Amino acid sequence: MPTFTNSHWQAVQKGLKDKLGDVVYESWMQPLTFCESKTTDDAVTVQAPTRFVKDWVQRNYTTAIQETIAEALGGAPMAVTFEVAAPAAQPAAPEAATPSQGSTPNEMVQQVGQAIQSSSAPKPAVTPLTGTQSKAPEKSAGLLDAGNPLDTRFTFDNFVTGKSNEFAYAAAKRIAESEDAAYNPFLLYGGVGLGKTHLMHAMALHIREHQPKRRVLYISSEKFVYQFIRSLRDKKTMDFKEAFRSVDVLMIDDIQFIAGKEATQEEFFHTLNALIDMRKQVILTADKSPHEMDNVEDRLRSRLGWGLTTEIHKPDLETRLAILDSKAAEMNIELPKDVAMVLADKVSSNVRELEGAFNRLVAHADLIGCPITLDTAQSLLKDIFQASNRLITLDEIQVKVADYYRIKLHEMHTARRSRDVARPRQVAMYLSKRLTQKSFPDIGKAFGGRDHTTVMHGVKAIEKLMQTDKQMADDVQLIEKMLTSS
Ligand code: ADP
Ligand code: MG
Repeated sequence: MPTFTNSHWQAVQKGLKDKLGDVVYESWMQPLTFCESKTTDDAVTVQAPTRFVKDWVQRNYTTAIQETIAEALGGAPMAVTFEVAAPAAQPAAPEAATPSQGSTPNEMVQQVGQAIQSSSAPKPAVTPLTGTQSKAPEKSAGLLDAGNPLDTRFTFDNFVTGKSNEFAYAAAKRIAESEDAAYNPFLLYGGVGLGKTHLMHAMALHIREHQPKRRVLYISSEKFVYQFIRSLRDKKTMDFKEAFRSVDVLMIDDIQFIAGKEATQEEFFHTLNALIDMRKQVILTADKSPHEMDNVEDRLRSRLGWGLTTEIHKPDLETRLAILDSKAAEMNIELPKDVAMVLADKVSSNVRELEGAFNRLVAHADLIGCPITLDTAQSLLKDIFQASNRLITLDEIQVKVADYYRIKLHEMHTARRSRDVARPRQVAMYLSKRLTQKSFPDIGKAFGGRDHTTVMHGVKAIEKLMQTDKQMADDVQLIEKMLTSS
Protein backbone atom coordinates (compact mmCIF):
# COMPACT_ATOMS: atom_id res chain seq x y z
CA MET A 1 0.00 0.00 0.00
CA PRO A 2 1.58 3.30 -0.94
CA THR A 3 1.83 5.74 1.90
CA PHE A 4 0.99 8.55 -0.45
CA THR A 5 -2.54 8.77 -1.79
CA ASN A 6 -4.71 10.95 -3.91
CA SER A 7 -5.89 12.99 -0.96
CA HIS A 8 -2.26 13.73 -0.09
CA TRP A 9 -1.85 14.89 -3.67
CA GLN A 10 -4.76 17.28 -3.31
CA ALA A 11 -3.04 18.72 -0.25
CA VAL A 12 0.23 18.98 -2.15
CA GLN A 13 -1.45 20.84 -4.99
CA LYS A 14 -2.96 23.27 -2.58
CA GLY A 15 0.35 23.70 -0.78
CA LEU A 16 2.14 24.38 -4.05
CA LYS A 17 -0.42 26.95 -5.01
CA ASP A 18 0.14 28.81 -1.74
CA LYS A 19 3.88 28.55 -2.00
CA LEU A 20 4.49 29.35 -5.63
CA GLY A 21 1.68 31.77 -6.37
CA ASP A 22 -1.14 31.53 -8.87
CA VAL A 23 0.94 32.26 -11.93
CA VAL A 24 3.46 29.49 -11.51
CA TYR A 25 0.86 27.16 -10.13
CA GLU A 26 -1.47 27.49 -13.08
CA SER A 27 1.27 27.27 -15.65
CA TRP A 28 3.25 24.40 -14.26
CA MET A 29 1.69 22.65 -11.26
CA GLN A 30 -1.95 22.34 -12.19
CA PRO A 31 -1.19 20.35 -15.36
CA LEU A 32 0.60 17.72 -13.26
CA THR A 33 -1.25 14.59 -12.27
CA PHE A 34 -0.52 12.06 -9.59
CA CYS A 35 -0.04 8.49 -10.74
CA GLU A 36 -1.14 6.23 -7.92
CA SER A 37 -0.39 2.96 -9.67
CA LYS A 38 3.28 3.81 -10.09
CA THR A 39 3.73 5.32 -6.66
CA THR A 40 5.64 3.22 -4.18
CA ASP A 41 6.56 3.55 -0.54
CA ASP A 42 9.71 5.35 -1.58
CA ALA A 43 8.73 7.55 -4.47
CA VAL A 44 5.73 9.52 -5.65
CA THR A 45 5.20 9.40 -9.40
CA VAL A 46 3.94 12.55 -11.03
CA GLN A 47 2.96 12.88 -14.67
CA ALA A 48 3.24 15.92 -16.90
CA PRO A 49 1.30 16.43 -20.12
CA THR A 50 4.42 17.03 -22.23
CA ARG A 51 8.13 16.49 -22.07
CA PHE A 52 8.63 20.20 -21.99
CA VAL A 53 6.50 20.65 -18.88
CA LYS A 54 8.13 17.65 -17.28
CA ASP A 55 11.67 18.90 -17.90
CA TRP A 56 10.83 22.36 -16.76
CA VAL A 57 9.12 21.27 -13.56
CA GLN A 58 11.83 18.76 -12.81
CA ARG A 59 14.56 21.30 -13.26
CA ASN A 60 12.93 24.13 -11.39
CA TYR A 61 10.45 22.78 -8.91
CA THR A 62 11.62 19.37 -7.70
CA THR A 63 12.65 20.73 -4.31
CA ALA A 64 9.44 22.68 -3.83
CA ILE A 65 7.38 19.61 -4.68
CA GLN A 66 9.40 17.34 -2.40
CA GLU A 67 9.09 19.72 0.48
CA THR A 68 5.37 20.04 -0.02
CA ILE A 69 4.99 16.27 -0.13
CA ALA A 70 6.91 16.00 3.12
CA GLU A 71 4.58 18.53 4.68
CA ALA A 72 1.51 16.69 3.43
CA LEU A 73 2.83 13.47 4.97
CA GLY A 74 3.67 15.17 8.21
CA GLY A 75 7.40 15.37 7.76
CA ALA A 76 8.41 12.10 6.10
CA PRO A 77 10.54 12.92 3.06
CA MET A 78 9.84 11.07 -0.20
CA ALA A 79 11.46 11.08 -3.61
CA VAL A 80 9.54 12.23 -6.68
CA THR A 81 9.65 10.60 -10.08
CA PHE A 82 8.52 12.62 -13.05
CA GLU A 83 7.28 11.18 -16.29
CA VAL A 84 5.40 12.21 -19.38
CA ALA A 85 1.81 11.02 -19.41
CA ALA A 86 0.85 8.69 -22.20
CA PRO A 87 -0.92 10.88 -24.73
CA ALA A 88 -4.67 10.46 -24.32
CA ALA A 89 -5.70 12.94 -26.97
CA GLN A 90 -2.72 14.13 -28.95
CA PRO A 91 -2.81 17.79 -29.85
CA ALA A 92 -2.54 18.75 -33.48
CA ALA A 93 0.64 18.31 -35.49
CA PRO A 94 3.65 20.33 -34.32
CA GLU A 95 3.13 22.80 -37.12
CA ALA A 96 -0.15 23.83 -35.58
CA ALA A 97 1.74 24.66 -32.46
CA THR A 98 0.40 28.16 -32.11
CA PRO A 99 -2.15 28.00 -29.33
CA SER A 100 -5.49 27.74 -30.99
CA GLN A 101 -8.45 29.56 -29.68
CA GLY A 102 -10.88 27.68 -27.56
CA SER A 103 -8.29 25.29 -26.14
CA THR A 104 -8.57 24.34 -22.53
CA PRO A 105 -5.71 25.51 -20.35
CA ASN A 106 -4.14 22.09 -20.25
CA GLU A 107 -4.28 21.65 -23.98
CA MET A 108 -2.77 25.06 -24.27
CA VAL A 109 0.17 24.22 -22.09
CA GLN A 110 0.53 21.06 -24.06
CA GLN A 111 0.54 22.83 -27.38
CA VAL A 112 2.83 25.61 -26.34
CA GLY A 113 5.01 23.09 -24.59
CA GLN A 114 5.36 21.21 -27.81
CA ALA A 115 6.04 24.34 -29.75
CA ILE A 116 8.86 25.19 -27.42
CA GLN A 117 10.09 21.68 -27.32
CA SER A 118 10.15 21.38 -31.05
CA SER A 119 11.86 24.65 -31.63
CA SER A 120 14.60 24.00 -29.14
CA ALA A 121 15.14 20.43 -30.17
CA PRO A 122 14.44 20.22 -33.87
CA LYS A 123 13.13 16.74 -33.96
CA PRO A 124 9.38 16.45 -34.53
CA ALA A 125 9.12 14.63 -37.79
CA VAL A 126 8.01 17.35 -40.06
CA THR A 127 9.61 16.12 -43.22
CA PRO A 128 11.18 12.89 -44.34
CA LEU A 129 14.54 12.05 -42.89
CA THR A 130 16.66 12.87 -45.86
CA GLY A 131 16.17 14.70 -49.07
CA THR A 132 16.80 11.58 -51.04
CA GLN A 133 15.23 11.70 -54.44
CA SER A 134 17.47 9.40 -56.35
CA LYS A 135 17.97 5.94 -54.96
CA ALA A 136 20.70 5.11 -52.52
CA PRO A 137 22.56 1.86 -53.02
CA GLU A 138 20.54 -0.92 -51.45
CA LYS A 139 22.96 -1.71 -48.68
CA SER A 140 23.41 1.83 -47.51
CA ALA A 141 19.80 2.90 -47.71
CA GLY A 142 19.25 1.84 -44.14
CA LEU A 143 22.06 3.98 -42.91
CA LEU A 144 20.95 7.01 -44.83
CA ASP A 145 17.50 6.72 -43.38
CA ALA A 146 19.11 7.30 -40.06
CA GLY A 147 19.51 11.02 -40.65
CA ASN A 148 17.60 13.46 -38.48
CA PRO A 149 14.32 15.04 -39.53
CA LEU A 150 14.19 18.61 -40.72
CA ASP A 151 12.02 21.18 -39.02
CA THR A 152 10.16 23.05 -41.74
CA ARG A 153 9.88 26.16 -39.62
CA PHE A 154 13.63 26.61 -39.74
CA THR A 155 13.71 28.46 -43.05
CA PHE A 156 15.77 31.37 -44.32
CA ASP A 157 12.61 33.47 -44.31
CA ASN A 158 12.06 32.85 -40.62
CA PHE A 159 15.60 33.78 -39.71
CA VAL A 160 15.94 37.32 -38.42
CA THR A 161 19.22 38.93 -39.33
CA GLY A 162 21.26 41.61 -37.65
CA LYS A 163 24.91 42.51 -37.25
CA SER A 164 25.62 39.37 -35.27
CA ASN A 165 24.49 36.86 -37.85
CA GLU A 166 24.11 38.51 -41.24
CA PHE A 167 27.38 37.18 -42.53
CA ALA A 168 26.59 33.65 -41.44
CA TYR A 169 23.17 34.01 -43.01
CA ALA A 170 24.54 35.32 -46.29
CA ALA A 171 27.16 32.58 -46.47
CA ALA A 172 24.62 29.87 -45.71
CA LYS A 173 22.25 31.21 -48.33
CA ARG A 174 24.96 31.54 -50.92
CA ILE A 175 26.05 27.96 -50.41
CA ALA A 176 22.51 26.64 -50.45
CA GLU A 177 21.88 28.45 -53.73
CA SER A 178 25.04 27.38 -55.49
CA GLU A 179 25.12 24.17 -57.45
CA ASP A 180 28.73 23.30 -56.95
CA ALA A 181 30.76 23.10 -53.80
CA ALA A 182 32.56 26.40 -53.94
CA TYR A 183 33.26 26.67 -50.25
CA ASN A 184 34.14 23.31 -48.89
CA PRO A 185 33.73 22.45 -46.10
CA PHE A 186 31.47 25.16 -44.80
CA LEU A 187 31.74 25.38 -41.02
CA LEU A 188 29.38 27.48 -39.00
CA TYR A 189 30.35 27.90 -35.39
CA GLY A 190 29.11 29.75 -32.31
CA GLY A 191 27.58 29.32 -28.86
CA VAL A 192 24.40 27.43 -28.06
CA GLY A 193 21.03 28.65 -29.19
CA LEU A 194 22.34 31.16 -31.72
CA GLY A 195 20.72 29.66 -34.80
CA LYS A 196 23.30 27.22 -36.20
CA THR A 197 20.85 24.36 -36.48
CA HIS A 198 18.22 26.72 -37.81
CA LEU A 199 20.50 27.85 -40.63
CA MET A 200 21.57 24.31 -41.39
CA HIS A 201 17.98 23.16 -41.72
CA ALA A 202 17.26 26.21 -43.86
CA MET A 203 20.06 25.18 -46.20
CA ALA A 204 18.81 21.61 -46.38
CA LEU A 205 15.23 22.73 -47.05
CA HIS A 206 16.36 25.15 -49.68
CA ILE A 207 18.51 22.65 -51.52
CA ARG A 208 15.79 20.07 -51.35
CA GLU A 209 13.27 22.44 -52.84
CA HIS A 210 15.41 23.95 -55.55
CA GLN A 211 17.76 21.14 -56.43
CA PRO A 212 15.72 18.02 -55.74
CA LYS A 213 18.24 15.80 -57.49
CA ARG A 214 20.93 16.46 -54.93
CA ARG A 215 20.88 13.99 -52.09
CA VAL A 216 21.07 15.80 -48.79
CA LEU A 217 21.85 14.05 -45.54
CA TYR A 218 21.45 15.97 -42.31
CA ILE A 219 22.65 14.18 -39.22
CA SER A 220 23.63 15.09 -35.69
CA SER A 221 27.09 14.18 -34.50
CA GLU A 222 25.72 11.86 -31.88
CA LYS A 223 23.95 9.93 -34.57
CA PHE A 224 27.02 9.92 -36.74
CA VAL A 225 29.07 8.49 -33.86
CA TYR A 226 26.37 5.99 -33.06
CA GLN A 227 26.11 4.82 -36.66
CA PHE A 228 29.83 4.44 -36.88
CA ILE A 229 30.11 2.44 -33.68
CA ARG A 230 27.25 0.25 -34.75
CA SER A 231 28.87 -0.38 -38.09
CA LEU A 232 32.05 -1.44 -36.28
CA ARG A 233 30.12 -3.76 -34.04
CA ASP A 234 28.17 -5.27 -36.91
CA LYS A 235 31.31 -5.42 -39.06
CA LYS A 236 29.66 -3.22 -41.65
CA THR A 237 32.11 -0.38 -41.89
CA MET A 238 32.18 -0.67 -45.66
CA ASP A 239 28.46 0.04 -45.75
CA PHE A 240 28.98 2.96 -43.47
CA LYS A 241 31.64 4.43 -45.72
CA GLU A 242 29.59 3.84 -48.82
CA ALA A 243 26.49 5.36 -47.32
CA PHE A 244 28.13 8.54 -46.21
CA ARG A 245 30.08 8.88 -49.41
CA SER A 246 27.06 8.46 -51.62
CA VAL A 247 25.39 11.73 -50.68
CA ASP A 248 25.77 15.03 -52.51
CA VAL A 249 25.46 17.25 -49.49
CA LEU A 250 26.48 16.01 -46.08
CA MET A 251 25.45 18.07 -43.06
CA ILE A 252 26.74 17.17 -39.62
CA ASP A 253 25.49 19.21 -36.70
CA ASP A 254 27.61 19.90 -33.59
CA ILE A 255 30.84 18.20 -34.61
CA GLN A 256 32.39 19.00 -31.23
CA PHE A 257 30.86 15.69 -30.12
CA ILE A 258 33.15 13.87 -32.50
CA ALA A 259 36.24 15.47 -30.98
CA GLY A 260 38.02 13.13 -28.62
CA LYS A 261 36.46 9.99 -30.11
CA GLU A 262 39.51 8.86 -31.96
CA ALA A 263 38.28 6.15 -34.26
CA THR A 264 35.18 8.10 -35.20
CA GLN A 265 37.24 11.19 -35.78
CA GLU A 266 39.49 9.28 -38.09
CA GLU A 267 36.53 7.99 -40.07
CA PHE A 268 34.99 11.45 -40.11
CA PHE A 269 38.22 12.85 -41.49
CA HIS A 270 38.30 10.31 -44.29
CA THR A 271 34.65 10.86 -45.12
CA LEU A 272 35.27 14.58 -45.21
CA ASN A 273 38.23 14.20 -47.53
CA ALA A 274 36.51 11.76 -49.81
CA LEU A 275 33.49 14.00 -50.22
CA ILE A 276 35.54 17.11 -50.77
CA ASP A 277 37.64 15.32 -53.35
CA MET A 278 34.47 14.37 -55.17
CA ARG A 279 33.36 17.99 -54.99
CA LYS A 280 30.44 17.13 -52.79
CA GLN A 281 29.37 19.81 -50.36
CA VAL A 282 30.11 19.28 -46.68
CA ILE A 283 28.40 21.53 -44.15
CA LEU A 284 29.25 21.42 -40.47
CA THR A 285 28.43 23.23 -37.25
CA ALA A 286 30.38 23.38 -34.03
CA ASP A 287 30.26 25.26 -30.77
CA LYS A 288 33.71 26.77 -31.27
CA SER A 289 36.23 27.52 -33.95
CA PRO A 290 38.58 24.73 -35.08
CA HIS A 291 41.47 26.47 -33.29
CA GLU A 292 39.69 26.33 -29.99
CA MET A 293 38.57 22.72 -30.23
CA ASP A 294 40.35 20.38 -27.88
CA ASN A 295 41.06 16.81 -28.79
CA VAL A 296 41.00 17.44 -32.49
CA GLU A 297 43.80 16.15 -34.61
CA ASP A 298 45.84 18.82 -36.35
CA ARG A 299 45.23 17.47 -39.81
CA LEU A 300 41.48 17.56 -39.24
CA ARG A 301 41.72 21.05 -37.82
CA SER A 302 43.63 22.23 -40.82
CA ARG A 303 41.31 20.50 -43.26
CA LEU A 304 38.37 22.25 -41.62
CA GLY A 305 40.14 25.52 -42.17
CA TRP A 306 40.40 24.98 -45.94
CA GLY A 307 36.85 25.88 -46.64
CA LEU A 308 34.78 28.69 -45.28
CA THR A 309 34.56 29.11 -41.54
CA THR A 310 31.99 31.54 -40.25
CA GLU A 311 31.14 32.58 -36.76
CA ILE A 312 27.62 33.31 -35.63
CA HIS A 313 27.68 35.77 -32.77
CA LYS A 314 25.35 36.58 -29.94
CA PRO A 315 22.57 38.79 -31.20
CA ASP A 316 22.74 42.44 -30.23
CA LEU A 317 19.84 44.19 -28.56
CA GLU A 318 18.34 45.37 -31.83
CA THR A 319 18.33 41.89 -33.30
CA ARG A 320 16.84 40.43 -30.14
CA LEU A 321 14.02 42.95 -30.37
CA ALA A 322 13.53 42.11 -34.02
CA ILE A 323 13.37 38.39 -33.19
CA LEU A 324 10.71 39.05 -30.55
CA ASP A 325 8.80 41.19 -33.02
CA SER A 326 8.88 38.51 -35.63
CA LYS A 327 7.81 35.81 -33.16
CA ALA A 328 4.94 37.95 -31.93
CA ALA A 329 3.81 38.66 -35.48
CA GLU A 330 4.07 35.00 -36.37
CA MET A 331 1.83 34.07 -33.45
CA ASN A 332 -0.40 37.06 -33.93
CA ILE A 333 0.24 38.38 -30.48
CA GLU A 334 0.49 41.90 -29.17
CA LEU A 335 3.73 42.23 -27.25
CA PRO A 336 3.91 45.63 -25.50
CA LYS A 337 7.06 47.61 -26.25
CA ASP A 338 8.19 47.84 -22.64
CA VAL A 339 7.85 44.09 -22.15
CA ALA A 340 9.76 43.40 -25.36
CA MET A 341 12.46 45.79 -24.20
CA VAL A 342 12.85 44.17 -20.79
CA LEU A 343 12.86 40.69 -22.29
CA ALA A 344 15.40 41.55 -24.96
CA ASP A 345 17.47 43.36 -22.39
CA LYS A 346 17.54 40.54 -19.85
CA VAL A 347 17.60 37.45 -22.01
CA SER A 348 20.62 38.31 -24.00
CA SER A 349 22.94 35.43 -24.44
CA ASN A 350 20.94 33.09 -26.58
CA VAL A 351 17.97 33.08 -28.92
CA ARG A 352 16.66 29.79 -27.64
CA GLU A 353 16.24 31.22 -24.15
CA LEU A 354 14.69 34.34 -25.57
CA GLU A 355 12.14 32.25 -27.40
CA GLY A 356 11.54 30.15 -24.32
CA ALA A 357 10.87 33.22 -22.20
CA PHE A 358 8.57 34.62 -24.83
CA ASN A 359 6.66 31.36 -25.10
CA ARG A 360 6.21 31.27 -21.36
CA LEU A 361 4.66 34.72 -21.40
CA VAL A 362 2.36 33.79 -24.23
CA ALA A 363 1.31 30.54 -22.60
CA HIS A 364 0.52 32.31 -19.39
CA ALA A 365 -1.33 35.18 -20.99
CA ASP A 366 -3.50 32.72 -22.88
CA LEU A 367 -4.09 30.57 -19.85
CA ILE A 368 -5.46 33.33 -17.72
CA GLY A 369 -6.87 35.26 -20.64
CA CYS A 370 -5.12 38.51 -19.82
CA PRO A 371 -2.82 40.60 -21.95
CA ILE A 372 0.89 40.46 -21.27
CA THR A 373 2.07 43.28 -19.02
CA LEU A 374 5.39 44.30 -17.58
CA ASP A 375 4.28 43.12 -14.14
CA THR A 376 3.35 39.63 -15.22
CA ALA A 377 6.53 39.39 -17.26
CA GLN A 378 8.64 40.35 -14.31
CA SER A 379 7.02 37.92 -11.93
CA LEU A 380 6.84 35.06 -14.42
CA LEU A 381 10.42 35.35 -15.54
CA LYS A 382 12.02 36.11 -12.21
CA ASP A 383 14.28 33.08 -12.43
CA ILE A 384 15.61 34.07 -15.83
CA PHE A 385 16.19 37.64 -14.81
CA GLN A 386 18.12 36.61 -11.75
CA ALA A 387 20.18 34.11 -13.68
CA SER A 388 21.05 36.73 -16.23
CA ASN A 389 22.54 38.90 -13.54
CA ARG A 390 24.66 36.18 -12.04
CA LEU A 391 26.60 35.60 -15.21
CA ILE A 392 28.59 38.81 -15.36
CA THR A 393 32.30 38.31 -14.71
CA LEU A 394 35.00 40.67 -13.51
CA ASP A 395 36.77 40.24 -16.84
CA GLU A 396 33.73 41.35 -18.76
CA ILE A 397 33.33 44.39 -16.56
CA GLN A 398 36.95 45.39 -17.05
CA VAL A 399 36.72 44.96 -20.81
CA LYS A 400 33.49 46.94 -21.10
CA VAL A 401 34.70 49.78 -18.91
CA ALA A 402 38.08 50.00 -20.63
CA ASP A 403 36.26 50.02 -23.97
CA TYR A 404 33.90 52.70 -22.86
CA TYR A 405 36.59 55.05 -21.62
CA ARG A 406 38.93 54.07 -24.44
CA ILE A 407 41.77 53.04 -22.21
CA LYS A 408 43.86 49.92 -22.56
CA LEU A 409 42.64 46.85 -20.73
CA HIS A 410 45.93 46.40 -18.90
CA GLU A 411 45.40 49.77 -17.21
CA MET A 412 42.90 47.94 -15.05
CA HIS A 413 45.83 46.10 -13.52
CA THR A 414 48.56 48.74 -13.47
CA ALA A 415 49.47 51.03 -10.62
CA ARG A 416 49.20 54.15 -12.72
CA ARG A 417 47.29 56.83 -10.87
CA SER A 418 46.62 59.50 -13.41
CA ARG A 419 42.99 60.45 -13.36
CA ASP A 420 42.21 59.30 -16.91
CA VAL A 421 42.91 55.69 -15.94
CA ALA A 422 42.24 55.78 -12.19
CA ARG A 423 38.60 56.85 -12.56
CA PRO A 424 37.64 54.17 -15.08
CA ARG A 425 39.36 51.65 -12.87
CA GLN A 426 37.24 52.79 -9.95
CA VAL A 427 34.13 52.59 -12.08
CA ALA A 428 35.03 49.01 -12.92
CA MET A 429 35.52 48.25 -9.22
CA TYR A 430 32.20 49.83 -8.39
CA LEU A 431 30.42 47.76 -11.06
CA SER A 432 32.25 44.63 -9.92
CA LYS A 433 30.85 45.08 -6.45
CA ARG A 434 27.42 45.92 -7.73
CA LEU A 435 26.99 43.27 -10.39
CA THR A 436 28.85 40.27 -9.00
CA GLN A 437 28.97 38.38 -5.71
CA LYS A 438 32.71 38.93 -5.35
CA SER A 439 34.26 40.19 -2.12
CA PHE A 440 36.47 43.28 -1.86
CA PRO A 441 39.66 41.19 -1.60
CA ASP A 442 38.63 39.14 -4.66
CA ILE A 443 38.00 42.27 -6.63
CA GLY A 444 41.32 43.70 -5.49
CA LYS A 445 43.06 40.60 -6.76
CA ALA A 446 41.47 40.96 -10.20
CA PHE A 447 42.68 44.55 -10.39
CA GLY A 448 46.39 43.85 -10.30
CA GLY A 449 46.51 42.57 -6.72
CA ARG A 450 45.24 45.70 -5.02
CA ASP A 451 44.43 45.83 -1.34
CA HIS A 452 40.76 45.46 -0.38
CA THR A 453 40.74 48.91 1.20
CA THR A 454 41.69 50.41 -2.18
CA VAL A 455 38.68 48.72 -3.70
CA MET A 456 36.39 49.93 -0.93
CA HIS A 457 37.70 53.42 -1.38
CA GLY A 458 37.17 53.26 -5.15
CA VAL A 459 33.60 52.00 -4.80
CA LYS A 460 32.74 54.75 -2.33
CA ALA A 461 34.33 57.41 -4.50
CA ILE A 462 32.14 56.44 -7.46
CA GLU A 463 29.01 56.24 -5.33
CA LYS A 464 29.65 59.76 -4.13
CA LEU A 465 30.52 61.12 -7.53
CA MET A 466 27.37 59.70 -9.05
CA GLN A 467 25.33 61.84 -6.69
CA THR A 468 26.96 65.07 -7.70
CA ASP A 469 28.14 64.49 -11.25
CA LYS A 470 25.34 63.77 -13.68
CA GLN A 471 27.69 62.78 -16.48
CA MET A 472 29.32 60.21 -14.22
CA ALA A 473 25.96 58.84 -13.15
CA ASP A 474 24.81 58.55 -16.77
CA ASP A 475 28.03 56.90 -17.87
CA VAL A 476 27.97 54.32 -15.12
CA GLN A 477 24.33 53.51 -15.68
CA LEU A 478 24.89 53.08 -19.36
CA ILE A 479 27.82 50.74 -18.86
CA GLU A 480 25.78 48.78 -16.37
CA LYS A 481 22.97 48.48 -18.87
CA MET A 482 25.35 47.28 -21.54
CA LEU A 483 26.79 44.71 -19.19
CA THR A 484 23.47 43.35 -18.06
CA SER A 485 22.10 43.16 -21.56
CA SER A 486 24.97 41.63 -23.44
P1 ADP B 1 21.99 26.35 -32.13
O1 ADP B 1 21.92 25.22 -33.11
O2 ADP B 1 22.98 27.40 -32.52
O3 ADP B 1 22.20 25.89 -30.72
P2 ADP B 1 19.26 26.74 -32.92
O4 ADP B 1 19.44 26.85 -34.37
O5 ADP B 1 18.71 25.48 -32.40
O6 ADP B 1 20.59 27.10 -32.15
O7 ADP B 1 18.34 27.97 -32.45
C1 ADP B 1 17.63 27.98 -31.25
C2 ADP B 1 16.28 28.58 -31.47
O8 ADP B 1 16.39 29.97 -31.74
C3 ADP B 1 15.54 27.99 -32.65
O9 ADP B 1 14.18 27.86 -32.33
C4 ADP B 1 15.74 28.99 -33.75
O10 ADP B 1 14.66 29.00 -34.65
C5 ADP B 1 15.80 30.28 -32.99
N1 ADP B 1 16.65 31.29 -33.64
C6 ADP B 1 17.97 31.42 -33.52
N2 ADP B 1 18.43 32.46 -34.23
C7 ADP B 1 17.35 33.01 -34.82
C8 ADP B 1 17.16 34.13 -35.68
N3 ADP B 1 18.19 34.89 -36.07
N4 ADP B 1 15.91 34.40 -36.09
C9 ADP B 1 14.87 33.64 -35.70
N5 ADP B 1 14.98 32.58 -34.87
C10 ADP B 1 16.20 32.26 -34.44
MG1 MG C 1 22.13 23.22 -32.76
